[in-house]
Amino acid sequence: MELHEAQRQVDDFIRGHGGYWNKFQILARLTEELGEVSAAVQRAEGLRASVDPSQVNVADEIGDLLFTVAVLANVCGVSLDEALRGVLLKYAARDGG
Ligand SMILES: [Mg+2]
Repeated sequence: MELHEAQRQVDDFIRGHGGYWNKFQILARLTEELGEVSAAVQRAEGLRASVDPSQVNVADEIGDLLFTVAVLANVCGVSLDEALRGVLLKYAARDGG
């Protein structure tokens, strides 16, 4: 899936489920989701106790984080395609490649 298509699908979902939160609510959710990714990776690596190892799903947590990044990008009017393209160009210029 292309990033712009992902943003469109996230937009459709959000508009169909009560609309966008304000930016500070989205930032709070982004922080929460990042913490969940961190916990899942630590559990998957055996660095944190897990009640049920089958419940550890790093991909699901990264999906939650990605969804929330798309929500923030939509609210801020940012194209994820352009943002990622821009950062890759910036890093290539800085680090070579
Ligand atoms: Mg999550």
